[in-house]
Parts: sequence; structure tokens; C-alpha cells
Amino acid sequence: MTGQKEAGQKEACVIGGGFGGLALACRLQAAGLATTLIEGRDKLGGRAYVYSLEGYTFDAGPTVVTDPSALEEIFAMAGRRLSDYVELLNVDPLYRLHWEDGYSFDYAKDEEHLLSQIRAKNPKDVEGYRKFYRYSEAVFKEGYEKLGAVPFLNFWSMVKAAPQLTTLQAFRSVYGRVADFIEDEQLRQAFSFHTLLVGGDPHKTSSIYALIHALERKWGVWFPRGGTGALIEGLGRLFTDLGGTLRLEDPVTDLKVQNDRITQVTTESGWSHQFDAVASNADIVHTYDNLLGGSKRGPQAAKGLKQKRFSNSLFVTYFGTKKQYPDIAHHSILFGPRYRELIAEIFSGPQLPNDFSLYLHRPTATDPGLAPPGCDAFYVLSPVPNLEKAGIDWSVTGPEYQERILAYLEERYLPGLRDNLAVTHRFTPADFKDKLNAHVGSAFSLEPVLTQSAYFRLHNRDDKIGNLYFVGAGTHPGAGIPGVVGSAKATAGLMIEDMGLSRSNRGPKAA
Ligand SMILES: Cc1cc2nc3c(=O)[nH]c(=O)nc-3n(C[C@H](O)[C@H](O)[C@H](O)COP(=O)(O)OP(=O)(O)OC[C@H]3O[C@@H](n4cnc5c(N)ncnc54)[C@H](O)[C@@H]3O)c2cc1C
Repeated sequence: MTGQKEAGQKEACVIGGGFGGLALACRLQAAGLATTLIEGRDKLGGRAYVYSLEGYTFDAGPTVVTDPSALEEIFAMAGRRLSDYVELLNVDPLYRLHWEDGYSFDYAKDEEHLLSQIRAKNPKDVEGYRKFYRYSEAVFKEGYEKLGAVPFLNFWSMVKAAPQLTTLQAFRSVYGRVADFIEDEQLRQAFSFHTLLVGGDPHKTSSIYALIHALERKWGVWFPRGGTGALIEGLGRLFTDLGGTLRLEDPVTDLKVQNDRITQVTTESGWSHQFDAVASNADIVHTYDNLLGGSKRGPQAAKGLKQKRFSNSLFVTYFGTKKQYPDIAHHSILFGPRYRELIAEIFSGPQLPNDFSLYLHRPTATDPGLAPPGCDAFYVLSPVPNLEKAGIDWSVTGPEYQERILAYLEERYLPGLRDNLAVTHRFTPADFKDKLNAHVGSAFSLEPVLTQSAYFRLHNRDDKIGNLYFVGAGTHPGAGIPGVVGSAKATAGLMIEDMGLSRSNRGPKAA
């Protein structure tokens, strides 16, 4: 699809149509930049791709939608309403947690419901939970509301934030802080596992991420009717409605640099174009190593990034069943026999652990339209080491690992599962590398440890190439929909300012 460029209008290019790239492209187009979004695959979404298989709709990645206000802001910037593009449905409980000893816990938004379950499990933890919640709210205010969409371009910006981060003990881990307040081990797990959803080991991830609890209590968890893909589709439509240009199935192959500026963007089909500014939503190592491979800056920056710690990968099996499992909640966390030790092996290797903890997605609990009548759509996700941490040949291990996971689900949670399978599909760490260009097959880019956060994460604007920007999981604040949408806000602010667009012409601009 091609939009129109007005005479004298500046042009921006966004490489990659994940949540971050799409949010940025919408913001830039709305601000008056003629924006071209180039996506390598046949559909937008990136990690949020969609598989439509035999009447079942499977969201490939993100399923827990939090902070709808950040999404609404993108539509509002463009003078539109999110509700005109996509309907968000409330999910309750937010998650249902199960352990192998049969204990289960509804991680609910309602405080009384939460407290009554905590009281039944360990009465002493009721007060501890209240204190943890107050802590989480304080971190949320500092870490999310104040710093979530700030581009940390220089060390000074980090120094300014340091006093608050020190007061909130950001140098401690999420699990460590939860354990300060809560005594029961299963409850500690219940309030610390969330970092795994953004690629962080709760025992190592900065306690800034304890803010996720307050964020979920404040806004709840949402699911778009039609699946997360409907949200991607809505953002894509918003972009083209505003006059943006979309180029699908044509990966960028080269960014030409002259005098510390990108002068030309070239794609696989041979198409090339000159833009005033270029933002990459593609993997950060891929961008420097491959797209900027011909420049002095590219290989140097890639070398530095490769020394950093990249997050774990995921093994995901999508499956449709010929019957329904109405007792299974929309979002279930199925804890395995080990927690700390399992997570350590997932993040450090050197091999695939024998046991697993799983996330089970049953979107048909909220939107039955995602499967044929009387059927369920599912996916099950197992966090696994990335390709650097464990040298696994996933073409061999994948089918056998999938079978083990389905057998486990059948035995404990989904009776008769394998006789009722209508369709299966899997995505392995090798696919993250091959299909998404993800360095070492990481599912979430850089690990969210304190030494790789804020100023220490990849900057939203390159330090040397003046018109090169980044957006998405590898930049501040990090992975997850709220994270990458926040990074889009930070990067858009920089680009709009650098391009000399004043506040007055940052308003809506329809085609
Ligand atoms: C299985 C899974 C479950 C998750 N669950 C949740 C959840 O429930 N809630 C949540 O908030 N987060 C979740 N996350 C995290 C979240 O999905 C990601 O952090 C986020 O979607 C990443 O967005 P991004 O903007 O960084 O771009 P990505 O989604 O990584 O997209 C990057 C895009 O760049 C494209 N690209 C790459 N190279 C090129 C090139 N050379 N030329 C053109 N295009 C290129 C890719 O094809 C891709 O479309 C999950 C992630 C996974 C993998």
C-alpha cells in the first residue's frame, strides 16, 4: 500500500512491523512525517504474528495485554479511538497458577479475592502482601510512569534517576524483594514469575520489574476480540488510514552510511530509497551486523552487543482440539517441580532441562470465535535456553520435546488431549533466529538485568549515526507490549524533535 507524500514533507522509514515498529510508525505518520514501514514477513506483528490453521486462529506470541491506556494514546495521537478499531475484552482471573502438588491460586485483580486466597495459604503473608503491593506501586510510579518512555541517551539522565532507583532498591532482584515481604514459597513464586514473560530471571532481574504487579492491579489484563492479531491489524489499519506506506514481504538488506548518516535503504527485492530518518525495529544485532555490515560503525557496535547477555528462548506449540476444556482458564501458569534451579538452567544452559514450567494459553475461554464451534484453540509455551547457551538441534529435539509436553498436559490438565488434537504447529529457538532474525534465537532481546537497563540498554538513537534510531525490545525500557510501546513513544519524541517538527504540527494528520 502506498501513501501520498506532500511537497517538502520529510520522510521516515521504520524497519520491522512488530508492536514497537507499528506504534512508532503510527506516531511518526500522525506527526506529519511521510512514513514507510518495511516488514520482511508476509504479515505485520513480528512476535505477534498470527497463524490461521484449519479454522483455528493462533496468536504466535503476546497474549497478556496490559496497560490499554498506552495503546489508546497511539490512536488518540492520531485523533482516533482505539475502540473504533478493536474491542478489548476483560480477562479474569488475570492468571490461574497451578503447582504439581495440586495447589492452585487465582491471580486476580480484585484485592479481596487475592487476600482471601493468601489468608487461606499463609495468614502471615496477608500483611506482607499489602507491603509488597505498596512497594510495587511506588516502583510503578517511578519506573513506569516517570521513566518508562524517557530516552536514556546519556549517563547524566541515568544519574538523575539514580536516587529514586536506589531508594526503591532497584539493585535487588524481583524475587529477593518479594521474599522480603512474603514467606510462603508458592506465594513468592506467584508474585515473582512475571519477569519470565519479558525474558528475565526473577532471581536476577532488577526489582524495578516488580512494577508489573501494580500495573496489572491498576489496569487488569485484556484480550482483543479476534486475538492479539486484531490489535496488530488495528494498528496497521490506523497507519494506512493516516496515509502511511506499508511494504510487506521485502526485508531490508542494506543501510548505506555516508558522513555518519544513513543515505539509502535497500531491500531484498532491489528497491531502494533515501529517507531523512531511519528507525529499526528489527533485532539490534541483526541491524548492526547485517544491515549496517558495510559501514565502519555496524560491525563495531555488533561486536559490543554480542558480549551482552541475551534473554532465553521459547519453545511454543500451538494446538487446536476437537473438544473444549471449559475448566482451563484463559491464562494458566503450570509450575513444574523446580523453580530457582530450573530458571537458572533456562538462562545459563548448558542443556535443555529435563523438567519444565509452562504457560498455557486458552484464548477460546474469552473469545470462542478463535476455534470452530465446540472446539478450543491453545498454545503452550516452555521457556528454554537460547541457541548460545545450549547447542540443541531443534529439528531433531523439537518433535520429541513437543510430544513430552503434550503428554504432560494430557496427564495432568487436559485429559484425552492427544486423541482430540485437530491441528498442531510449533515454533522453536531456531525459528526465532531464522524467521525473526533474532540473535541467538532470543525471544526477548537483551536480558532485563540492571546493567543492561535504561542508559545501559541500546540507546533509542545511535551514538554515531545521527539519523539512525531504534525501537522495540532491545531498547529502553525493554520487552513486552507496554515496554516496546513505551520505547516507540521515546523514539518518536526524539525523531520528531530532530526533524524539526514543532509541537504544533505533531497533531493528527489524516490521508
Ligand atoms: C511467545 C511469546 C509470548 C509473549 N507473551 C507476551 C505477553 O503475553 N504480553 C506481553 O506484553 N509481551 C509478551 N511477549 C513479548 C512481546 O511479544 C515482545 O517483547 C514484543 O512483541 C516485541 O516487539 P518488538 O517491537 O520488539 O518487535 P518484534 O515483534 O520483534 O518485531 C520485529 C519485526 O522486525 C522484522 N524484521 C526483522 N528483520 C527485518 C529486516 N531485515 N527487514 C524488515 N523487517 C525485519 C521481523 O520480521 C519482525 O516483524 C511475548 C513474546 C513471545 C515470543
